Amino acid sequence: MFTDSHCHLDFPCFSHELDDLFEALKSKEITKVVIPATQASSWEPVQKIASRYPSAFYALGIHPHFLTSFKSQDLETLNSLLKNRNNKCIALGEIGLDKFATTNLQQQEWVFIEQLKIAQQHQLPIILHCVKMQGRVLTILKQQKFNYGGVYHAFSGSIEIANEFIKLGFKLGVGAVITYPNSTKTRTTFSLLPLESLLLETDAPDMPLYQQQGKYNTPLNILPIFECLTTLRQESKTQLATQLYNNMHKIFALSDD
Ligand SMILES: [Zn+2]
Repeated sequence: MFTDSHCHLDFPCFSHELDDLFEALKSKEITKVVIPATQASSWEPVQKIASRYPSAFYALGIHPHFLTSFKSQDLETLNSLLKNRNNKCIALGEIGLDKFATTNLQQQEWVFIEQLKIAQQHQLPIILHCVKMQGRVLTILKQQKFNYGGVYHAFSGSIEIANEFIKLGFKLGVGAVITYPNSTKTRTTFSLLPLESLLLETDAPDMPLYQQQGKYNTPLNILPIFECLTTLRQESKTQLATQLYNNMHKIFALSDD
């Protein structure tokens, strides 16, 4: 019933506990997780995890924080992996622009645009990472006429900005940020947006829940994030859970459990 649209289960902190973790997810009715890649060296690991666990799906892409190891031939490899993808590969990501990444913005933009072209060619949605670069990302998405949408992961910001992305076919990832009492703007935004535009995510092992800073996050925390969202919304828990499930399946073209 529940899904985590964004978790990095290929990161080393999970390597010895994946069997137990997927068992625990199953027992909590967390039936699908999406593992976005961050760089070329993570493409094989995410594919392996997805082939081993029925509830794991993956995306391939190059994250703006991981551009120091980027080589232009990575784009050709990405293109050919997507051409030969199986049904476990459901998006291109995570990709985008980040004001705080060490690589300069010109290089970030070039790699982002090249990946958008590849997503367009393969008719895939993207998993977007965008930090303090919302205006620029919106301009690029429009210039490139990118029309497969995707999810703006770990969205935080105003309702106006959220609506700009929704118009371009994006859903907004709701994560642990809403559990922090002082993130008033994002909590208000998520209380007001149409339910059809929201997806749940943990961003595990990053983005710990409120009062769990210093611990690593896991996809099991999708449940407390859901509980927190129910306190911000008018809909019943059942309505919320059903629509969130449908949103995830629609944007990534997944088949039902
Ligand atoms: Zn991520």
